[in-house]
Amino acid sequence: MAGGDPRVAGGRLTIDLDALVANYRLLAEHSTPAEAAAVVKADAYGLGTAPVVRALTAAGCRRFFVALPEEGLAVRQAAPAAEIYVFNGLFSPEAAAFYREGRLLPVLNSQADLSIWEAHGWDDGEEPRPCALHVETGMNRLGLTAERTRILAQENALTGALTPRLVISHLACADTADHPMNRQQLKSFQVLSALFPESESSLANSAGIFLGGGFLCDMTRPGIALYGGAPVGGVANPMHAVVTAEARIAQLRQVRAGQTVSYGATPVTRDTLVAVAATGYADGYHRAASGAGVPLRRSLAEGAAGFIAGQRVPVIGRVTMDLTLFDVTALGPDTLKVGDFIELFGDNMPIDEVASAAGTIAYELLTALGRRYHRHYLYSGAPA
Ligand SMILES: *Cc1c(COP(=O)(O)O)cnc(C)c1O
Repeated sequence: MAGGDPRVAGGRLTIDLDALVANYRLLAEHSTPAEAAAVVKADAYGLGTAPVVRALTAAGCRRFFVALPEEGLAVRQAAPAAEIYVFNGLFSPEAAAFYREGRLLPVLNSQADLSIWEAHGWDDGEEPRPCALHVETGMNRLGLTAERTRILAQENALTGALTPRLVISHLACADTADHPMNRQQLKSFQVLSALFPESESSLANSAGIFLGGGFLCDMTRPGIALYGGAPVGGVANPMHAVVTAEARIAQLRQVRAGQTVSYGATPVTRDTLVAVAATGYADGYHRAASGAGVPLRRSLAEGAAGFIAGQRVPVIGRVTMDLTLFDVTALGPDTLKVGDFIELFGDNMPIDEVASAAGTIAYELLTALGRRYHRHYLYSGAPA
């Protein structure tokens, strides 16, 4: 989708596809001997399906996962030869037409999905009704129960009606390496996937890749780590930053001690130089990132910070729809001017830190990125 015109947009997103490719290579290496697919749901976590899929394809990625059939069609346009799986399964027989059109593979999550696919699925040459099967191992979100999986495997052994290409499950606590849930899920998954000896298996998301060993199975499914988010908490992030979000300074103003700023009138206790930046919650800069002392901040004392001229600059007062105030007192009035860009997150402000200051996760900051930013892509690779 078109971004803002760079001459007038309130902010810009720089999306570094070389960093994305470097992250893919690192994850593929950690996945060995399994193959690394790529999760590109929600418009490639907000970064843009087509450029992301083309760069990953050029880097050797052949398999993609999305949440919905229409996302799958967008991936198909960018990657004519890819294998494309759709996590959320089939809602109705009408959905099957989308799968046929895009040669998409549904991840079947329930008995209803199985019935619809058997009746309405497409055939891939010798392979009738190609699909993946999601088995439940602890998330209780999507996936066939262990009991139903066993019945299906028995039926299949007799009729051969539906042989999934891939059997998957999803880890609930992979970012906490020593959580007992990880081992439990792996054990359940090994038992259930073994019922389909002809199918490949896949369990690990980004964090799961760093659990290593048996968690790798035949295929891994990284998402957030491709886009620079930390796969695991509490250790240095091994991934390269992919997205830099910046907002333009619309105005610089001096606020005196005793005055207030923004909605709700947050008191200002010392003379403060404020940079009014042209980004807000309508651009995905969360209102929960508001500055220290704003009453809506209950459990987290500190608000988010931006970065400019070598300095971290805290958000002050409430984040509003189109504007956010930063305390730039430390930089003095002569360093900054209207039109300069404040980094919201990127190389200098780790996205996970900003997310955590807003009480959320990098996934949400990326997928909430608004449409008003000017977007530009850095890429030195050959266009795919
Ligand atoms: C989103 C998703 C992934 C990717 O997870 P990350 O934590 O972003 O790596 C993998 N598998 C499933 C089923 C998902 O829904």
